[in-house]
Amino acid sequence: MTVDTLRLSAEEANGLLTRREASSDEIYRAYLDAIGERDPELHAFLYVCENDPGEGIPIAVKDVIGTRGIPTTAGSKILESYIPVYDSTVIANCRERGLRVIGKTNTDEFAMGSSTENSAFGPSHNPWDPSRVPGGSGGGSAAAVSAGLAPWALGSDTGGSIKQPAALCGHVGLRPTYGTVSRYGVVAFASSLDQVGPVARNVRDCAFLYSVISGRDENDSTTVDVPAVELPTAEDLKGLRIGVPKEMNGAAGIEGGVTAAVQSALELAESLGASVEECSLPRSVDYGVACYYLVAPAEASANLARYDGVRYGLRDDGADFREMVMKTRDAGLGDEPKRRIMIGAYALSAGYYDAYYGTAQKVRTVIKREHDALFERFDVLVSPTSPTVAFPIGAKIDDPVAMYMNDVLTIPSCMAGLPGLNIPCGLSEGLPVGLQLIGPQFGENTIFRAAHALEQAIGFDVVPERLR
Ligand code: GLN
Repeated sequence: MTVDTLRLSAEEANGLLTRREASSDEIYRAYLDAIGERDPELHAFLYVCENDPGEGIPIAVKDVIGTRGIPTTAGSKILESYIPVYDSTVIANCRERGLRVIGKTNTDEFAMGSSTENSAFGPSHNPWDPSRVPGGSGGGSAAAVSAGLAPWALGSDTGGSIKQPAALCGHVGLRPTYGTVSRYGVVAFASSLDQVGPVARNVRDCAFLYSVISGRDENDSTTVDVPAVELPTAEDLKGLRIGVPKEMNGAAGIEGGVTAAVQSALELAESLGASVEECSLPRSVDYGVACYYLVAPAEASANLARYDGVRYGLRDDGADFREMVMKTRDAGLGDEPKRRIMIGAYALSAGYYDAYYGTAQKVRTVIKREHDALFERFDVLVSPTSPTVAFPIGAKIDDPVAMYMNDVLTIPSCMAGLPGLNIPCGLSEGLPVGLQLIGPQFGENTIFRAAHALEQAIGFDVVPERLR
């Protein structure tokens, strides 16, 4: 039995196992071979596990997610030698189901970025066109799933790091409702925003993996009980009310090819029985990015204080403690984390706290209320996930604000704590276009149902053209 890693969904890979057409080891080795063959070009992985225990199928894991006995670097030199002594809760959940970690995937350093170019270990490449970025920060997981180096993966999303790479690489990714998935054992970036979520080749796999990792965890007090996950089967969208925020659709800065692909998906949705109506999120889109780039760096500046050369990873020499810490942080942290620590420390400092951090918190409440009001009239909101298709490596790396603006469509719902899922909806210039469905708090089942029906109707082939 040959294991067609390029085409198998996780459900199909699992089917091979349960029908005894392939053993767990055979499946694992097939993916290792695929990694050996295709990863030199893609650099999706920072670390490959030769033989992780378990009886099930493999999973790739973003390198911000702690894995016992397996290096966890968060894409940073400062954690280069860090090997966790315990599993994060999401990994423990995966292990209970027999899933085997096949490797740790590349990420922008501390998940700060939209292209993986901020990884201390070099960028990943987009399987559709290796001269382009796979998105970020979870570009490694995205490239791995897109190129069939793993049937599915775990990512983490603070302001778009699951959804945007899924859009740029042409597959499915869910950022779950804040509080539904434990952050225990996950390298913290901005704790009020960070969420772990599934990266998959189709919506059913995504829903299943979400059911595995979600739920209340006594080690993360922000988690809650989660409604039972329903694996989607629906083929129509009868009765579904779709809101289309006008600031996020066809607006300035969104590529024409992206708008066109999302527009045809919306027409398809109508033909499947959904009602589609324009709506507005004026403040969320205008202020979302600015607000995020105060809140997230502020929290990051506190979270990253723990990398002091004493507790984890890298340590540089110094004449005294203070000098040791300074030299360690200077040598171990890259430009983007340093930039954010400085912005965050500034925004939190006495005299500026109210003006910056305090104001951002109030704006965040406005963003939340704007979304809540729309969910009184709509079941889901739809927009492009990313304003552009995958851009060339190097195109935005010297212009942080241009890079930040790539998140303009994913950030608002993240600030509001809401779930969002990307499905591929077509091609523009031969590259995948992503459509995001945003739901109300705990609205994952509605999102899965809608996304599954749309996915069937669109019929997008997730295998990159050049690999077919
Ligand atoms: N691109 C955004 C940032 O740089 C979001 C990253 C993320 O979701 N981790 O912060």
